[in-house]
Amino acid sequence: MTIAMAASEIFPYVKSGGLADAVGGLCKELSHQERVIAILPLYRSIDRKRFDIRPSSISFSLELGKEIFDISVYYTSFDGYDTYFIYHPLLCDENSLYESSGNDVRFGLFAHAVCVMAAEHIRIDVLHLHDWQSALAAPLAKTYYRLSCRVVLSIHNLAFQGVFSKKSIERLNLGWELFTMDQLEFFDQVNFLKGGIAYADAVTTVSPTYAQEIKTAAYGAGLDGFLLRHETKLSGILNGINTVEFDPSCDPSLNHPFDTHRPQNKKHQKEALCRELLLENHGRTLFAYVGRLAEQKGINELVELIHTIQDAPLNIVILGSGDSVYESLCKTLYHYKNVKIVLKYDEELSRRIYGASDFFLMPSRFEPCGLAQMIAMRYGSIPIVRQTGGLKDTVTDFTDIEDSGPSVYAGIGITMEECDVVSFMHAIIKALSLYADEAMMQEFIAYNMEKDFSWHRPALGYLALYRSLNP
Ligand code: ADP
Repeated sequence: MTIAMAASEIFPYVKSGGLADAVGGLCKELSHQERVIAILPLYRSIDRKRFDIRPSSISFSLELGKEIFDISVYYTSFDGYDTYFIYHPLLCDENSLYESSGNDVRFGLFAHAVCVMAAEHIRIDVLHLHDWQSALAAPLAKTYYRLSCRVVLSIHNLAFQGVFSKKSIERLNLGWELFTMDQLEFFDQVNFLKGGIAYADAVTTVSPTYAQEIKTAAYGAGLDGFLLRHETKLSGILNGINTVEFDPSCDPSLNHPFDTHRPQNKKHQKEALCRELLLENHGRTLFAYVGRLAEQKGINELVELIHTIQDAPLNIVILGSGDSVYESLCKTLYHYKNVKIVLKYDEELSRRIYGASDFFLMPSRFEPCGLAQMIAMRYGSIPIVRQTGGLKDTVTDFTDIEDSGPSVYAGIGITMEECDVVSFMHAIIKALSLYADEAMMQEFIAYNMEKDFSWHRPALGYLALYRSLNP
């Protein structure tokens, strides 16, 4: 079976969030069993030299609306699978991946180019699309290009749908017959993701709980009714993490690499981080947050909690970047001596924080899957999460564990029904009492560190799905 994976970001080439990790991890794991071809825009920021990206023999012109776009295709083979890069200056030469007023044409162009590749240049059995940036390839594949391959669409975050003026219909050769309520039309605009859902043979999300949640008004971002209508083809497959990349026993970012046989080194790592960040009282319980500063992540509640408990005998580290409103909110915590705020994106520091912290805070309002809590568990940091989406599927509260242990997918942590300050305070109190029980704490840390959060199981889930679809 040959699977083409089309996405707007794939690690290690380009990454702005969890999407890149997920697609990169899946490509690599699937390539152990099947032929995988990734298709990605060749953004200016991608390091052509490092990845040995060369021009391929493929080029073609797309006549869309009143314009002609000359596309050139580049190629490399890296990490065990082939990648084709689509190049057109309009798509690739913006300063930012997504902050552009021309995103309908940019990613419409990308979707057309993906279909041309599948129609004329590579023979594939499955076209797997990810999020709104490639979703438009589903209706194009089934109508304009009449491809015979199976089409799968994965929704990594329903909050982003790619909604544009209806002028895109003509600009992108979509045909007005697609502009109906059960296809691409969404409040008199064009919705790329909705078109993908309508036409894909199967739609997946990145956790079983999120697959259920998005069929409700609270989580459906306006598409809940539509998803409900398509629920027979909707399923949730939990993401994994790259367990070779995220390995505390040999992570070069750590001052003191550790594993379950060297638990003492985690304590040394905590001391080293406290020194690095100028935090006093190194023996105190260390709570951490690493992630985007966005409403989705429960930052309001986190900041409110810290103001409430600032006198408590504990240390807190926040590493985040994002929304300027939330950066300003975090700055209101600057003057607390036991709180360290670092406002930037810093991969290496993030790993030292995962490795040093005792507890990892993730009070998300919604969370399609979430990678950070799995990385935290792998680095021996007990997650404190709100029970939503993938957080619900990957973390079981330590007081709810059955004799047989948590479910096959989950590690051990502390869970909150809601993410208000009262629930949060309860969770912190629970964490402090767990921390006081050294033996139990070590047992949970070891359980989580040895849990299999790799891409192996998810890849089997996707393979089973591909095989279940009729050609
Ligand atoms: P999302 O994709 O919604 O941002 P995830 O939990 O799925 O959230 O993935 C976030 C990834 O980005 C994790 O690997 C996390 O460690 C990393 N990350 C987020 N913010 C930062 C930051 N400021 N510095 C370093 N790494 C970060």
